[in-house]
Amino acid sequence: KEYLLIAGPNVTWHRPTSFEDLLDLKFKFPNAKIVVGNTEIGVETKFKKMTYPVIIQPSVVKELNEIEETLKGVRVGAAVTLNNMRAFLINQIKKHLKERTRIFKAIVDMLYWFAGKQIRSVGAIGGNIMTGSPISDMLPILMATRVELEVQNKKNGLRFITLDGNFFTGYRKTVLQSDDVLQAIHIPFSGKHQYFEAYKQARRREDDIAIVNAAVNVIFEENSNKISNISFGFGGMSFKTVTAPKTEQFMKGKAWNKETIEKAQILLLEDLPLDPSAPGGMIQYRKSLALSLFMKAYIAISEQLP
Ligand code: FAD
Repeated sequence: KEYLLIAGPNVTWHRPTSFEDLLDLKFKFPNAKIVVGNTEIGVETKFKKMTYPVIIQPSVVKELNEIEETLKGVRVGAAVTLNNMRAFLINQIKKHLKERTRIFKAIVDMLYWFAGKQIRSVGAIGGNIMTGSPISDMLPILMATRVELEVQNKKNGLRFITLDGNFFTGYRKTVLQSDDVLQAIHIPFSGKHQYFEAYKQARRREDDIAIVNAAVNVIFEENSNKISNISFGFGGMSFKTVTAPKTEQFMKGKAWNKETIEKAQILLLEDLPLDPSAPGGMIQYRKSLALSLFMKAYIAISEQLP
């Protein structure tokens, strides 16, 4: 195979030029790490002393680096950097009706609070998803949206997997197999009666990791305040990004008003149990943050309703 390969004493670094070669490499070395921005792997190798003998760099594989508008929304290659994704989504927001780009806006706004410019310039969306950090800033938004992931490996070919509450099976573990490559994500246009809010609470406003973050995605019935569908994504409330199944189930079909929200808040605490010994501590604070961010979304969405 013709591509750049650098073999050092401890690490072999491959830079395949075709998607086929990338799949072949992942098949041959299922434990190999696909590295784009190195902003997660770099921390693991430098500070946690982890070693990865085989590294695959997909920066010249077209399928992973493209970003394009589709009929349903935007397809973002997994190796597209956060900054490039942000720039593309800003253009989409300018180009389309406000109601169609509410999810894009939530992503763009969140990226303002995501790390610093340097990290956003090299870090990719795929790396954020695959790392599965419980305080990732993108995952609550993508999970509340239930985005579709394009995943592929050499044996099984292309599959679409929904990023929902089942995607993470453990701390930084996903349903993907070790030889799977995340190819792209599909972020949909929002619908006419759909509203989307996302927030992050950190110790410092800029360039800090979240304590709790949340995304609320609600679709109303036409010309009504009745909730047709609602989905949540929460970070910082478990060992993984989570949804809120009981609250979602309860709110479906209910009116969007204070009474519904008050009842939903009780269920939300059941959906987000935090063990007193949970890593990170500040249990009461994190619980009240989750409730406050939900209330904030309620007020923000209420203000936007016609
Ligand atoms: P890499 O380190 O290159 O890869 C990460 C992991 O993903 C690896 O395990 C890799 O094998 C896997 N992977 C990557 N692409 C694929 C693929 N296509 N298929 C399968 N597996 C793949 N995160 C936040 O959410 N919010 C923040 O505010 C934030 N701030 C940060 C600040 C600093 C200083 C640093 C160092 C990191 C920060 N991060 C933050 C985390 C990180 O920057 C993001 O998660 C980023 O999106 C990771 O992308 P990357 O390309 O650098 O990942």
